[in-house]
Amino acid sequence: MALPDGFQFSQASLQDYVECRRRFQLRYLHHLAWPAVEAEPALEYERCLRQGEAFHRLIHQHLLNFPSAQLSSMAADAELGRWWHHYLTGAPADLPDLRYPEVILSAPIYSHRLVAKYDLIAVEPGERMVIVDWKTYRRRPPREWLARRLQTQVYPYLLVLAGFHLNGGQPVQPEQVEMIYWFAEFPQAPERFAYSSTQHRRDGDYLTGLIHEIAGLAEDHFTLTDDRRRCRYCPYRSLCRRGIRADSFDETDYEIRLEDFDLSPELEFITEAVL
Ligand code: SF4
Repeated sequence: MALPDGFQFSQASLQDYVECRRRFQLRYLHHLAWPAVEAEPALEYERCLRQGEAFHRLIHQHLLNFPSAQLSSMAADAELGRWWHHYLTGAPADLPDLRYPEVILSAPIYSHRLVAKYDLIAVEPGERMVIVDWKTYRRRPPREWLARRLQTQVYPYLLVLAGFHLNGGQPVQPEQVEMIYWFAEFPQAPERFAYSSTQHRRDGDYLTGLIHEIAGLAEDHFTLTDDRRRCRYCPYRSLCRRGIRADSFDETDYEIRLEDFDLSPELEFITEAVL
């Protein structure tokens, strides 16, 4: 078996696996850092990553009740300022009052864990739990693309499993859960996904099946993807002999993942599911 006990799966690692088993192996099992940029131009790509992080930090501080005026002065850059203005004037208005920003939930699956970090969970205990994910994509992804993302399955599924303590100590019913993707460049066009018991069962079957499959895979079965389009933004291109140059992320930049995060075990605010 290739996976160490206690291995933590995230939506990002599962997304990597379904796109390319080899990328999953290189990134999460071999922890191989490969010196290739994920998109060109490299400096612009790097700048966009930093902007996205800065925007998430501003919102986090705002949700912790830092004064808006003080935060606005930190959004001096034109792009960041525009996103910040969009957030202040166009963020989802119908959210429950109880807000939990940057919360991490975790649940055991077999001898491994499924972990997710949420930008925001807004709660009306026993009634509604709304997951909000802030996106800084330059282009608005279609609903079908978002629906296929592992994030859209992992986040609501895990909230039902592990979010009881945010729900006034009551079990979370799938029908209480909604997920919203809010786009900083398109504040009037958020995408909303309602959740249901049927979907929760379906997600559970799929995610546990996927994790079971990965856990049982022999070392030499982490094969390269047949779909060479997956290699366009992959840092392991030269290692896999799938090209040297990265594609320009201007074209389809929402396909590049900006939402990876550090799953270090010492994070204090991990909340475990009690199963
Ligand atoms: S370059 Fe292509 S085959 Fe290699 S890890 Fe990346 S996506 Fe997979």
